Order: sequence, then structure tokens, then C-alpha cells
Amino acid sequence: MAVLTAVALLASGFTAVSASGAESGCRVDYTVNKWTDGYTAQIKVTNLGPALNGWRLTWTYTGDQQVTSAWNATVTQTGSSVAAVPTSWNGTLATRGTADFGLQGTWRSADPAPSDFTLNGTPCGGDGTPPPTTPPTTPPPTTPPPSADCGSAVICSDFEDQTGPAPSGAWQFTAPDCQGTGAAAVDTAVAHSGGRSLRVDGRAGYCNHAFVAATADLSSVGPVMYVRMWVRHTTALPSAHVTFVSLPDTSQGGRSLRVGGQNGALQWNRESDDATLPAQSPVGVALSRPLPTGSWQCLRFAIDTTAPGLDTSLGDEQIPGLHADGVPTQDVDQQWLARTTPPRPTSLRLGWESYGTGDDTLWFDDVTVGSAPIGC
Ligand code: CA
Repeated sequence: MAVLTAVALLASGFTAVSASGAESGCRVDYTVNKWTDGYTAQIKVTNLGPALNGWRLTWTYTGDQQVTSAWNATVTQTGSSVAAVPTSWNGTLATRGTADFGLQGTWRSADPAPSDFTLNGTPCGGDGTPPPTTPPTTPPPTTPPPSADCGSAVICSDFEDQTGPAPSGAWQFTAPDCQGTGAAAVDTAVAHSGGRSLRVDGRAGYCNHAFVAATADLSSVGPVMYVRMWVRHTTALPSAHVTFVSLPDTSQGGRSLRVGGQNGALQWNRESDDATLPAQSPVGVALSRPLPTGSWQCLRFAIDTTAPGLDTSLGDEQIPGLHADGVPTQDVDQQWLARTTPPRPTSLRLGWESYGTGDDTLWFDDVTVGSAPIGC
């Protein structure tokens, strides 16, 4: 369906061509996903000159963007000047070779796309560069919105292969600590796609938790782990803390990164230190959203495993209270960022865990986990 939040697509595609007509220089495609005060940029640099062993891409921000983290490159910012250098494995750029990397940042008043890229000092376009002597023969590339198809996803389940009443094969029932009256089953009466979904009958009280765990190993999904699921539930999220997605996390010694609710709204919770995102202040809770009942909801996460970055979308909205970046924001991610080790989730559990009050019946369908963004 739609892309993550409002998208400004900036296929800048600056190409420098020498007077002789032979290509030189570089091309940069800079694609932005932005929200109220933050953004991510996916940057593709194409070397149009001689092969390079080691590269440095620079640009200048003309707004007040501030880079907070990056993946597949080391990005440093001094004032408005930004420089990116490769990691150990993408430093060689053949002629026409490309390197892709990404970054996350914040902005407040303005965030125009940069246009003065240089690769090892050679302008890729923008000010001071002679215009091309020949027009580009191919249209600038565009980045399509993330597909709802599975692509290369590690988990991609519509549960249609679940033929029995009990989860089997790639999905296994689990009650990690103790088992009571909570239950999970394959449901043939309610489904988002096809004729089957996963149903969880969650009951109040810690020992009544019930989960279904994917058997897939997620330890190598990344650097950003993208999770998409359709979820439907019955009872509004309670005031007390509950969890319906649990991701065992080696950075917490196997304890979980959890998605659930508290004070009636969605929240992240980190089991090892009980930090929440957003903070459970009235301001923080208001920046999250309830999980609507009685209808299928598309819930998506992007979990950065190399830096403390976390995004959450419900439908087309990126939820401001469920966004963590490198800059502590009071009521949102100040407490969350107290722990600087990024998460490393290794598996996915869907179900219900209540620590006090809270019964709910939930359904999950069309669940996908992979290293590329996925649409609803
Ligand atoms: Ca289904």
C-alpha cells in the first residue's frame, strides 16, 4: 500500500560529464523518508570515473539537519558539512560501481536535500559544476515505495500453510516462563488474507501468557530489521503494562524487546531495564496511539541493530512517541537512550503477556521480517 509516512523522494541524480563527452565524476541518489522532526536518507553513490580504492563522499546541508546515526558507512558532521567514508567492505568502487548507505537524523525548521556532493573531491553536480554536455540518456531512477510482497524476507507468513488447529512447522507455541490459561491456535474464522490467521487468547496475569514463536533465526537480519504485521484485537489496551510482540535480544542477554501497551497506548518496553518508549508521562503517552479494536491494523517497525534507532508505524502514520533516534527527547526517548547498546533481536514471538490486569483476544496475519522495508 503506502510508504512509511510522508515521503519526499529526491532522486537528485547529479551527473558530471567532462567536456570531451567521456563520463567522469559521480552520481548520487539521495532518497529521504521524513517525519515531524526526523528523517532517514538512503544514499546511493555511483562512481562514473576511474576505479577507486577508498572513497569519501561529502555534502553540505543548507537546512538544520543533524545526522545522528548511519549504516553501511561512517558519517561525520561538522557544522553543516557532512562526510561519509566506507565500511571495511564497501570501500572499492569500480567504474560504474555503486555503494549504498543510509543515515538517520533530526531537523527542526528546514531540511532541503543537499546538492553539492563530491566524491574524493570531484563534484557530482551542483554549484560550480559545468552543466552536462550531453543529456542523460536514461531517466533518473526512482525508488518505488516498499513492496508488500515478501521479497527476500526471512519471515513471510500468511499462515495459510497452517493446516492443523495448533501452530506447527515454522511457528511453535511457547510460554517462556510459566503457563496458565492463555492459549494460541490457528484460526479459520478470522483472517486478513486467505482463510487463516494466528489467534491468541490472552489472559490477565503473568503466568497466563501465551506466545507463538517463529522458528526462523533473525540474528543476521539487518543492519535495520524491518517487521510488518497485520494485527487485530478485541479489547482496548489497558492502563497496566501488556506485551503482544516479544523479540528476544542478545544485547540484553536474551531478554526481550517488547511491543505492547501501557496507559491505553502502544509502547516499546525493554525487559532488561524496564525502559519504555515513549516515557509514560501524560505528554509521552499522548505522542503514542491506541491500537484500534475490531479491525485489522498494519503495524510496522524498523529496528536499527547498529545504533539506537527505532521507528514504528501504524498504517501510514509514523508514531512520534514510538520513535527513538540519537538525540534524547524528553517524554519520548530520553529514558530509552540511557542504554546505548543497540538491540540485536534474534527471533519473533507473537502473543500476549500481561503483568497485572488485561485480557485480550488478538489475531496476527501476513507477518514479515527482513532487511528491506516492507509496505502494508
Ligand atoms: Ca492468512
